Amino acid sequence: MNRRHFLKTSSLVTGSFLSANGNATGAGATSPEHLIQLDEELVLRSKFLNEPITIQSIDLLRNGRNFLVRIRSHDGAESVTAPNSLRLKDCWPIFQNRVRRFFIGKDACQIEKLLVQLYRHGSNYKWQGLAFWVCQAALEMGVLDLIGKVRGVPLGELFGDVRRRDIGIYRASGNRRNTPEQEADVLRRFIAETGAKAVKIRLGGRMKQLEDTRPGRTEKLIPHIRKVLGDQITLYADSNSSYGVKDAIRIGRLLEENDYAFYEEPVPFDHLWETKQVTEALKIPVAGGEQEYSMRRFRWAIENRAMDVVMPDLHYNGGFIRSVRVARMADAAGLKCTPHMSGSGLGYVNVLHFASFVPNITDHQEFKGTSDIPCASKTSSLKPKNGIVICPSEPGMGVEVDPDYVRKSRLVPA
Ligand SMILES: [Mg+2]
Repeated sequence: MNRRHFLKTSSLVTGSFLSANGNATGAGATSPEHLIQLDEELVLRSKFLNEPITIQSIDLLRNGRNFLVRIRSHDGAESVTAPNSLRLKDCWPIFQNRVRRFFIGKDACQIEKLLVQLYRHGSNYKWQGLAFWVCQAALEMGVLDLIGKVRGVPLGELFGDVRRRDIGIYRASGNRRNTPEQEADVLRRFIAETGAKAVKIRLGGRMKQLEDTRPGRTEKLIPHIRKVLGDQITLYADSNSSYGVKDAIRIGRLLEENDYAFYEEPVPFDHLWETKQVTEALKIPVAGGEQEYSMRRFRWAIENRAMDVVMPDLHYNGGFIRSVRVARMADAAGLKCTPHMSGSGLGYVNVLHFASFVPNITDHQEFKGTSDIPCASKTSSLKPKNGIVICPSEPGMGVEVDPDYVRKSRLVPA
């Protein structure tokens, strides 16, 4: 291990998963065989899965632009969860035709084995990609909520011990067209509204369009934001695949000089080999993975240290179970994990739960603001205060979608 990797891993490691046999997966000391094992191992705690919970019905509901998934069990338990509506508006027939029907009459507690079968069922693997995985995630999150409700435990407990309920958040700017001075005002407002101790800025022109809409914006923005916000704020930066390797490294050095905490998607997101080159050239941790949905490519990226911070999207990557496997592989390799936050639905609640039990989670999770789906928790305001959002501790997802809102939703035809 060279000095750069030693510095990176030693500053990034804070905890470790326990594997199914009770051994810590261990940070940094891993092997390709160990990663394969973690990729295939069951991740839900068996003590909550002993008594069957038979799924009687699964309904896809729609209220305006929002979708809901309602699952009922034979013995009267009910779950209502929010899938990724932004994506489901285009791909809901895949949920209805390829995912929903398969689970009717099945035992919710067999979810991990059923998801393996689902992948082959009706050649679903030919549909894999965001359109299939968001539909699987819609179903999986409903099933996990149902199991949590029946067993009386919050979602995180199904995977491991809940380690924290105070979840540090960051706000990300979506701006690429304003001046560095205007952007500083936007970030100051984010911080004032949420008390966030961290923010994320956008670099470059997005998707290999190197030129900023304002020439030189990125080079001015990076030092300006550090100067204006001071040393107490953690700064993250996302290029959204803007650069080739040479420019990615040049911009990365500027981030290092200004003490940014990670550098997200420096080069085209699916160019794992180039991402690895940038990671090896820089000291700043490189982050990526929000568009990734292949467990084998995640494993390659982790085994080969293509990145230092792995960012599976809980919906685009097919749900909690697959994303926990990614986090466990990252943990074994001494890498950190933070979920990408896909907007719409109750994605921010999903992120709170993921961060509540994953040991190698980063310090701050993205918070995009609350949703227009009316819901409440008895144990959390679901709003940021002093840069913290509390993870609900009621059973399952821990939030109740307003029953009136559910009643006014219409059933999407099967
Ligand atoms: Mg990103």
